[in-house]
Amino acid sequence: MAIRKIVTHPDPFLRQSSKAVEEITPRICRLLDDMADTMYAADGVGLAAVQVGILRRVVVIDTGEGLMELINPRIVEQSGEQEGMEACLSVPGKNAIIKRPMFVRVQAQDRTGEWKEYSGEGLTARAFCHELAHLDGQLYIDLADEVYTDQ
Ligand code: ZN
Repeated sequence: MAIRKIVTHPDPFLRQSSKAVEEITPRICRLLDDMADTMYAADGVGLAAVQVGILRRVVVIDTGEGLMELINPRIVEQSGEQEGMEACLSVPGKNAIIKRPMFVRVQAQDRTGEWKEYSGEGLTARAFCHELAHLDGQLYIDLADEVYTDQ
């Protein structure tokens, strides 16, 4: 278990696409452990592997309902709409109002390789969209009309 360094905007590394995990090795499990440690230490609700310098499709999310470890996640259903404040550990000190679906369902592998479904509304739906976008090199600020600086 260890806390990893978070890559921050405008580092071009954040713009790269992450590759699928083909085999869930001990190294991937260690990455999951470290990502959870790093997310909790930074008071975040989600973290993608690219944010700690690893271009693999791995995400951790905890919006207060327990830790979700998502390997090769994909959105399979979304509905509704919400508008709310969003921030990112890779864009420190900033926030913006972003439109997202109200409900999102995701399929992902867990660390045993089994495919599972996860769904969430509100903040969890927002976290799914935000973290999965990181895997394709996208940041929430790309979607913002205006980005604010924390007071
Ligand atoms: Zn982020």
